[in-house]
This record gives sequence, C-alpha cells and structure tokens, in this order.
Amino acid sequence: MSHHEYDLLIAGAGPAGCTLALKMAGKGLRIAVIEKDHFPRHKICGDALSGKVLNVLKRLPDGLYERFIRDIDKIPSRGIRFTAPNLHSVDIPFMRDIGPETEPPGYVCRRADFDNFLFQQLKNYSGIDTFEGERVNEIFNQPDGIDVTTTRHQFTAQVIAGADGVHSAVRKYLRPGAAGKKHFCVGIRAYYKGVTGLHPENFIELIFLKELLPGYFWIFPSPRGQVNAGFGMMQSRLLRRKENLTHILDDLVTTHPLLAPRFQHAKAVSRAEAHTLPLGSFHFNRSGNRFVLLGDAAFLVDPFSGEGIGNAMASGEIASEILGKCFTDHNFSAEALAGFDQRIHRRFGQEFRTTTIMQHLARSPWLFNMVVEKARKNKEVSELLTAMFTSEDVKEKLTKPGFYARLLFK
Ligand SMILES: Cc1cc2nc3c(=O)[nH]c(=O)nc-3n(C[C@H](O)[C@H](O)[C@H](O)COP(=O)(O)OP(=O)(O)OC[C@H]3O[C@@H](n4cnc5c(N)ncnc54)[C@H](O)[C@@H]3O)c2cc1C
Repeated sequence: MSHHEYDLLIAGAGPAGCTLALKMAGKGLRIAVIEKDHFPRHKICGDALSGKVLNVLKRLPDGLYERFIRDIDKIPSRGIRFTAPNLHSVDIPFMRDIGPETEPPGYVCRRADFDNFLFQQLKNYSGIDTFEGERVNEIFNQPDGIDVTTTRHQFTAQVIAGADGVHSAVRKYLRPGAAGKKHFCVGIRAYYKGVTGLHPENFIELIFLKELLPGYFWIFPSPRGQVNAGFGMMQSRLLRRKENLTHILDDLVTTHPLLAPRFQHAKAVSRAEAHTLPLGSFHFNRSGNRFVLLGDAAFLVDPFSGEGIGNAMASGEIASEILGKCFTDHNFSAEALAGFDQRIHRRFGQEFRTTTIMQHLARSPWLFNMVVEKARKNKEVSELLTAMFTSEDVKEKLTKPGFYARLLFK
C-alpha cells in the first residue's frame, strides 16, 4: 500500500468537503480529497438548493457561481405551495413584484449534477489531489499528525476534516458516541414523469400530511420535465409504524386523496431510495485535536425543514477560516480548533434552537391548519409562512405562543 503525505485531508467530496477544499485552494497547502464513490455520483436528496447555498457559491473563487448559473441544468424556485393537514393549500411567491429576469432565491438541481459540478472544480487547482473510489477506513490521531488508511492507500496529514456524511468514519474514530438516536430523520425520494397539478411557475410544494408530521411530503419540479417527490419523517415515528419507507411512499401516491389523482398517470423514472438526515437538534463538540467535522458528519441539518446542503457548505467555509489560522500558527491542538465549534455555535446555535421548537410545534395538525387558513386570507401571514424557511427573525417569532394567539384575531 503506497503512502502519501499531505497538509490537509478531506474525507468526503460532497458539498461540505468540496467547499472546504475550494476555500483552502491557492494557499500553498497540499490537500487530498478522498471520496468513496466515483463522480458523477448519485445522492439521495430533494435537490432543493436554498439561498444559503447560492450565498456560499457566490463567495467561492474564480467565478464559480457564474459558471453554476450558466452551465448547470436546474429549475428556478420562485415560490412555495403549502398544504396543511386538512389539505387546504396556499401559494406564496418568494418575492413579490419581480419579473422572470430577477434572480430566483433558490433552485432545484439534481445532486448528481450539482455535486459533480463542485467536485470537478477541484481539478482546477494544482494543490488539490482527488482520490475517487477510495473509502476512508481507519483514522489514528498520532502525536505528530493524523494517520489514515483507505481501501487503497495510507495517508499522513497535519489535520483531517470529516465531511464524510451521516455515517462518518472520521466521527466514529475521533468523536465516538456523538450521535444521539433521537436526532435522526429518514427520507425517501423518487423521480417521476407525468405528475399533474404542478404550479404553473414551478413553485416547490410542501405537503404537511397528518401521518408524517412533523415531517412532510414534497413535490419539487426538477429538470428534464421530471419531479423529485418524496417525504421525510422522524426516525422514531417510522420505528413505531413498523413499516418500510418504500411501502409508505407507494401507499401515499396510490391511495392518498390528494396525491393519488396527481400520480395516477405518473411514471416513476428512478428507484425510490431512502437515506438518513442527522438533525442539528443537539449540541456536541465538532472539533478536537487535529480534526473538524463538517455538514452531515457534524449533524447540521435543519431540524424543521430538513435543509442540509447550505449548512454543510457554510460549515466548510467556517472551517477554512479556522484551519487557515491553524496552518499559519502551526497549531492543530483541540484548543486551536475550538474556534471552529464557537463559530458553528454562533452561526447555527440560535437557528437550530428555534427550528427544534418549530419541529415540536409542527406535531399539532390544528396549528398548521390554522396558520395555512390565515395565510390564504392575509398577505402578512402568508409572507411570514414563507419566511419561516428563509428568515431567522421570523423563525423565532413562530416559536412564541403569543404569535399564534394574535393569529386567531387576524
Ligand atoms: C431524502 C433526503 C432529502 C433531502 N433533501 C434536501 C434538500 O432538498 N435540500 C437540502 O438542502 N438538503 C436536503 N437533504 C440533506 C442533504 O442531502 C445533506 O444535508 C447534504 O448532502 C450534506 O452534505 P455533506 O457534504 O455534509 O454530505 P454528503 O452530501 O452526504 O457527502 C458526503 C460524501 O462523503 C462520501 N463518503 C462517505 N463515507 C466515506 C468514507 N468513509 N470515505 C470517503 N468518502 C466517504 C460520500 O460518498 C459523499 O460523497 C436531504 C437529505 C435526504 C436524505
């Protein structure tokens, strides 16, 4: 087994790992990105890229955002259709008074395309070496560096970033026991053609079915005339149901009174596939001596919306700033890297506390019914409802009982 030496090892080339690598490029460091799959690789996801993703893309180097806008197949997201458990819906544009030429606040883009786009950018930088089809197996923290064994090589580096997803090997070795069982959601999705009743401007749809709360069913218009449809639910709820996700999905699209007519002539053009979402509803240390954890490996998925791509990329960006200083100071101790945890806490602490409360509130169908009912009649409430997916202040407002009391009189 050949042996390689690097300054920084990044395990996993999803959005978190690629963002970190791109932000560290050009600093004179030798960086290895090790990925178990080959790109373009398949990723189970709803494929919704929020404004958070676009904001990080804009800060990546060498016109990457402009190339994303120009080259990548995607559907602009200009609004949301919410459906409450009583099956009443409301359509809310993300921004009012805009024309079709205005930049949309988000997109739906297949992860196979988006992740491949990010990964291929790494090849533009001479300091970054990529190793595809190679799984990180073992990680040992030694006094003078990190030793890593993969399925093909041995590596030594000053520091490692675990961006290797929900079942992170880096987390398993360097922060064992971190994963809290209550903090997982499970999701399943398939691509379909021929689903009817889509919004004419391709609004994304969140359908809060009683049987899934606090999770929801989604229908996201996707490139090539397809939709990405699926649902997420708390793992604890699934375990109580003792049913498999594929059966629940089949059952919903064939028998549910709202979904069945819309899927009646639809054809699944992919397999239905499921995966786990690690929610940011608990706190643990995401760094230590010679390592940081990013994205799903660090449990950074929004506990209410299930959004994880933007948070994963933001964590890669934060890590680049902290690691940049560690390389300048030649110090990779737990104390030097603790700044990463502080920054993550500052960035996500309040947001996750708020969205965890929202996740608990969302278990009550009557509350959802009332909010959607009010939003159908009142522009101010409808804007609030959309903003709960975008604005921190509004999210906080939605966790206060007084908000719902005032809503009764709107
Ligand atoms: C059903 C479902 C729907 C979702 N929908 C959305 C959505 O619409 N919008 C949104 O923002 N988020 C969504 N998410 C969450 C989102 O997919 C994740 O939060 C996001 O992918 C996290 O990015 P990441 O880079 O941390 O991890 P990943 O994207 O999982 O990337 C990790 C990478 O590490 C590699 N890897 C794993 N183990 C190893 C190893 N041992 N060695 C080497 N490489 C390894 C993997 O192959 C992978 O490429 C959804 C998740 C699910 C399950």
